[in-house]
Amino acid sequence: MTSSARPFLNRRLAEFGTTIFAEMSALAARTGAINLGQGFPDTDGPEEVREAAVRALRDGRGNQYPPGPGVPELRAAITAHQRHWYGLEYDPDTEVLVTAGATEAIAAALLALVEPGDEVVALEPYYDSYAACVAMAGGTRVPVTLRPHEGAFRLDLDELRDAVTDRTRVLLINTPHNPTGTVLTREELGAIAGLAVERDLLVVTDEVYEHLVYDGAEHLPLASFPGMRERTVTIGSAGKTFSFTGWKVGWITAAPALVTAVRSAKQYLTYVSAGPFQYAVAEALALPDSYFTGFRDDLRAKRDLLAAGLADAGFGVFRPAGTYFVTTDIRPLGFDDGFAFCRALPARAGVVAIPNAVFYDHREQGAPFVRFAFCKRTAVLEDAVGRLTALAPRPGAG
Ligand SMILES: *Cc1c(COP(=O)(O)O)cnc(C)c1O
Repeated sequence: MTSSARPFLNRRLAEFGTTIFAEMSALAARTGAINLGQGFPDTDGPEEVREAAVRALRDGRGNQYPPGPGVPELRAAITAHQRHWYGLEYDPDTEVLVTAGATEAIAAALLALVEPGDEVVALEPYYDSYAACVAMAGGTRVPVTLRPHEGAFRLDLDELRDAVTDRTRVLLINTPHNPTGTVLTREELGAIAGLAVERDLLVVTDEVYEHLVYDGAEHLPLASFPGMRERTVTIGSAGKTFSFTGWKVGWITAAPALVTAVRSAKQYLTYVSAGPFQYAVAEALALPDSYFTGFRDDLRAKRDLLAAGLADAGFGVFRPAGTYFVTTDIRPLGFDDGFAFCRALPARAGVVAIPNAVFYDHREQGAPFVRFAFCKRTAVLEDAVGRLTALAPRPGAG
C-alpha cells in the first residue's frame, strides 16, 4: 500500500486530495499555537440544550433510525423558526428535510439537482465543500469573485449576470458569507433573485450564519424575494447557531418537489442521523429571542476585540458584517503570499490562521488574504491579540 491516497482518488476528486484545515490544525497541535484557523467554538452551546439531548437519549427518543425527513418535533420547530424570524411559511410534512449538518444538505442538493455538465455559479471565495460537491455531482463550477471595495468584499452584479449561460442550472449563494464576512444587501439579493427568475435557475442558499449579523446589517433569506419561494433550497444548521458543531444537525426548507428531489439523494448518503440530537435542536430553535440576540452580541464583542487587535498588529482588516470570521490583508505587513504567511505564523507569533487562497479557483485573487476565526473565549482572543502585536512594525525600526 502506498501511504498517499492520491494514486487511488478518482479524477473528479483528484484536486481535493488534502485540506488546509488538517494541515493547519496539525501545525497548531505541533507548535502549541492558538488555533484561529478552523471555525468551531471553544465553548459548548446552552446547557439546557445539552440537557435536552441527554434526556432524549435516556428516554429512548431517537436511539433508533429516526424518520427519513427528520423527527416531527424538529421539522415543526424549523418551520416555526422560519415563520417567527422571517415570516416564511413552510409545511413541516412536505417542505422540510433534516440532514447531517449543512454539509450533507449542500452535497445532497447538488447531487440531486445538477446533471453532469451543468454549470453551478458560486460566489468566490467559497466554503470548501462547494467545489468538491459540484465535482462529485459531475457539474462545472463557475466562480464569481467577490472583490474588495471600501472595506468589504462585494458582489459585482454585472459579473454575476455574465457568468450565467444556457448551461447554468444552479446559483449557489452563501450569506452571511464565509470567509469574507460579507452580508448580501437587499439590493444585491433582489438582483440575484431577478436573475434567477429571468434565467429560470434553481438557487441553493447556505444561510448557516443567519443569526450572526452585526451593526444593523440584516439577514434576508433569499427565499423571501419575489419568485424565489418555488425555486430556492434554503440551508440552515444548528452547529453554528447553537455552538454544537459536533452534533451535525442541519436542514433544508424548500418547495415540496425540491425537498423530494434532495431527499432522494440524501437517503443514500446517510439515510438519517443524529436521532437524539434532533429532539434537542427542536428545543433549541424554540429558545427565546434573547438567546439569539445574546449570542450575536457576544460574538460582535469578540469580533471587535480581534479586529482591533489585528489592526493594531498592522493587518488590513475587513470588518465582517456577519459570520465569525475576519478576513485580513497581509500586504501592509510586507507580505503577499497567504500560504507562506500562515505556514510561518505559528513560529513567528504562536497563532494559526487560514490562507483565503484555498477558497478560490483564481488563487491569485485570494493570495494576500488570511482568515481568522473569533468564535473563541475572550481570554483566548486576548492572548492571540497579544501574540500578534509582535508582528507590528515597531516605530523607528525602519
Ligand atoms: C460550517 C459551515 C457549513 C457546515 O455546517 P455543518 O452544519 O457543520 O455541516 C456550511 N456552510 C458554511 C458556509 C459553513 O461555514
